[in-house]
Amino acid sequence: MRYISTRGTAPILDFEQVTLAGLASDGGLYLPEAWPQVTADEIAGLRGLSYVDTAVAVMAPFIGDTMTQEELKAMCTQAYGRFAHAAVAPLVQLDQRHWLLELFHGPTLAFKDVALQLVGLLFERFLAGTDKQLTVIGATSGDTGSAAIDALAGRMGVEVFMLHPKGRVSDVQRRQMTTVLAPNIHNIALEGASFDDAQALVKAMFNDADFSGRFALSAVNSINWARLMAQIVYYFYAAVRLGAPERPIAFSVPTGNFGDVFAGYVAAKMGLPIAKLIVATNVNDILHRALSTGDYSQGTVVPTPSPSMDIQVSSNFERLLFDLGGRDGPALAAQLHGFESSKAMRLTNAQLQGAATLFTSDRIGLDDMALAMRWAHSDAGQTIDPHSAIGLAAARRADLGDVPVVTLATAHPAKFGDAVERATGMRPALPARIGNLYDREERFASLPTRFADVTEYIAARATPR
Ligand SMILES: *Cc1c(COP(=O)(O)O)cnc(C)c1O
Repeated sequence: MRYISTRGTAPILDFEQVTLAGLASDGGLYLPEAWPQVTADEIAGLRGLSYVDTAVAVMAPFIGDTMTQEELKAMCTQAYGRFAHAAVAPLVQLDQRHWLLELFHGPTLAFKDVALQLVGLLFERFLAGTDKQLTVIGATSGDTGSAAIDALAGRMGVEVFMLHPKGRVSDVQRRQMTTVLAPNIHNIALEGASFDDAQALVKAMFNDADFSGRFALSAVNSINWARLMAQIVYYFYAAVRLGAPERPIAFSVPTGNFGDVFAGYVAAKMGLPIAKLIVATNVNDILHRALSTGDYSQGTVVPTPSPSMDIQVSSNFERLLFDLGGRDGPALAAQLHGFESSKAMRLTNAQLQGAATLFTSDRIGLDDMALAMRWAHSDAGQTIDPHSAIGLAAARRADLGDVPVVTLATAHPAKFGDAVERATGMRPALPARIGNLYDREERFASLPTRFADVTEYIAARATPR
């Protein structure tokens, strides 16, 4: 499998190279040159397979000959062996039409573990036996940071620098990052910063020729292709359990950076019969506006109880626009340069109509989010987190006839205990695997939100290329 950039001019890469890369050198994002196709018989053949065997079958075409199927299976067994549920991603029925797909049984309690546990092992595999030293730099509003740190702690050849806005992540989220004391993990709390400030600093480091020339920089946010690939698996896993390929299924996806729902789009492109993908946003609704009216214009981020969706620029939307616009890299680059300078753009008719064949969207405010949490709790006996509640609210409001709808449950309710308690009156207990989070020593550096201070700190600790 070969990988090309959405902006058309970066070098073509293979799977190994695309896993270790961050942004493409032309500023675009990588995706496969063509979507692998799966037949109805092959989908039927996934029935009854374990999560690991489903993962091997779905991911094999993307990996090509960079690894054998045996190696891939061993890696998936190790990655998903750390999940606290035997099914890895269990499907829970809520009523006749609604299901939850629980993606939060990994070590850090959010769906990001599904991809990052595997990506950590891929990094190690591709770096073993080389003298390459990767410097992973990321900004986090909470969940990506803890999942990446858990996946990369103690791995050879990787130093991780994770930037979070000081005081803007929850206690659980911060402790999940700062109590990991492995010597290759460096947490940086940025003073007075928002998540956007942290992300802007990371982008500036990647774009700085001097800094990015000295260190082999790599990314673990969802611009990384391997992360999206690992997320395609659970769309197949859930759909075959509910009757695919004979019966089409809809999915409702709590969305921020458009990575998770883009993986659903890829599953559909491969041949999985998906009736609809519901893009559920909170009040930070740039994607809902784009998909319903074609207006992709950046608003100001409003903090909400679903912080992992408090985003006003969705990186992975670029991958969809590329595929819907006839894969015309130069045209997309021009369209996005317009957005980057004016913070606003219109989707083309081809993009808007193309998206409408598979996607629908909704914007869920605080009241409807709380109502969904209460409905799940009192009518279906399930405690759900604020992000999943936004997905469920959109799923229950969508007009899809009698198509079964699976809402992706993206975080464990205990990760957002305050919001759950406010809505339901009940505080979810932290699962035992989180253990003595509140008794463990924390370690992090507090730095001013300034390019010079942060790069100096990193340069003193990272290994030059
Ligand atoms: C990251 C995250 C999301 C949003 O996923 P995207 O791939 O960025 O759209 C939703 N819910 C939770 C709990 C998350 O951590």
